[in-house]
Amino acid sequence: NSKTMKYDITIIGSGPGGYVAAIRCAQLGMKTALVEKYSTLGGTCLNVGCIPSKALLDSSEHYHNAHKRFEEHGIKINDLGVDMPQMIKRKDSVVSQTTAGIDYLMKKNKIDVHHGLGSFQDKNTIKVLNDKGEVNTFTSAKTIIATGSKPANLPFIELDKERVITSTEALNLQKVPDHLIIIGGGVIGLELGSVYARLGAKVSVIEYMDNIIPTMDRTMGKDLQRSLKKIGVKFYLQHKVTGVSRSEDQVTVTAEDKKGQTVEFLGDYCMVAIGRKAYTEGLGLENVGITTDKQGRVEVNEHLQTSQDNIFAIGDVIKGAMLAHKAEEEGVYVAEYAAGQKPHINYNLIPGVVYTWPEVASVGYTEEQLKEKGTAYKTGAFPFKALGRARASMDIEGQVKVLADKQTDELLGVHIIGPRAADMIAEAVIAMEYRASAEDIARMSHAHPTYTEAMKEACLAATEDRALHV
Ligand code: FAD
Repeated sequence: NSKTMKYDITIIGSGPGGYVAAIRCAQLGMKTALVEKYSTLGGTCLNVGCIPSKALLDSSEHYHNAHKRFEEHGIKINDLGVDMPQMIKRKDSVVSQTTAGIDYLMKKNKIDVHHGLGSFQDKNTIKVLNDKGEVNTFTSAKTIIATGSKPANLPFIELDKERVITSTEALNLQKVPDHLIIIGGGVIGLELGSVYARLGAKVSVIEYMDNIIPTMDRTMGKDLQRSLKKIGVKFYLQHKVTGVSRSEDQVTVTAEDKKGQTVEFLGDYCMVAIGRKAYTEGLGLENVGITTDKQGRVEVNEHLQTSQDNIFAIGDVIKGAMLAHKAEEEGVYVAEYAAGQKPHINYNLIPGVVYTWPEVASVGYTEEQLKEKGTAYKTGAFPFKALGRARASMDIEGQVKVLADKQTDELLGVHIIGPRAADMIAEAVIAMEYRASAEDIARMSHAHPTYTEAMKEACLAATEDRALHV
């Protein structure tokens, strides 16, 4: 059942990298095909990543506030409880509305969607095998690999996906665990850990490094650890997991602490959240001679071209931050490059966010990176507890920390932990794209009372320590 179709460009994988690339290619006048092996579009992010995790974070935060904070606000409620199946059902409906939105965008932009496993037959021929066993083959002048990533695992752990699970299953639990053991103190582990801690589970996070969210500025990890401890999350840093076993509904995790002593954790669920791995299975890279690096990522040059110059790769399947908006920027970049334009991505200014409470958001260099580079810098920090807006809402945890060049005052990094940090980081990205100095921000009016005043105050603090409200 083979059709003869010809496309200017084909995108394999419909995550935020792939579907955005498809839209931009279509906008630029290319005849575009999108191949997706799952029945819904949107990839990891929309189906089992960004969107469902934020849906559960919001639901669990409402519950937590009602349970722990409403009374102080003078709000009384009786019979508060968690209906887990309903919470998951609402999450599912958010996901299906969002993925249906991508179907609409594909139709609107006249993009041909082929459901099935896409693979290279040769550098201009794509084969799509659908779940009915039918094969469609078509030609494509150019192709973008946007096949994303899958949860990584340790070689000795058997994921049964019932009790020993990944983030994917943790987004679908029908009951709140009694004790959720999380391997890995990175973004995904901490976001889902806070969901279940807020819903009443005992949560233990086991991390190999000596701090959580280890890629972010160290101050952020320390502050976040303190905040999460307050909602009951227990941390075991510098612990190396050595085994995971399950017997019926009980899971035992063994680890070695920094003194080499064995520590045992007993729980009813264990979530492995040690990161994600580029996914290229079944893609037929060998048929086109495209190589992957030691970590399984597709190798690309500065134009995101593979060793075949008509085949590009973007998003989680290549090097760099595994973030939806990074994948999107790359999708637009490749579409425009393929159309003969000269696009650009500033990788240093891709923000990173952790949607715990308080939120953490960060852009540019960390203090540790500046030290390592030997850059002379100054810091300015401002705590949210000194802001009227934060006190009005009782969201007083956290701070804004800015790092600026010692000589030129140019902003080099902004690190925020606190209420609405995820949205506040946009100001820092804009400022840094325009190469603003801390003084530039310090001299701009910020509406009162808002959380963003903390950004202005931190920038005031960066020069002559002249924050006004501490
Ligand atoms: P993916 O989204 O992984 O999409 C790849 C698609 O390709 C998949 O649909 C897959 O089925 C398809 N595919 C693979 N091989 C083939 C093939 N051979 N043929 C056809 N189709 C194929 N990022 C953020 O920026 N913010 C967040 O808040 C955030 N939260 C997250 C929470 C969780 C729990 C997880 C797991 C991830 C989160 N991420 C977040 C990361 C984000 O999901 C990824 O960075 C993003 O999805 C990467 O996009 P992508 O387009 O590269 O690949």
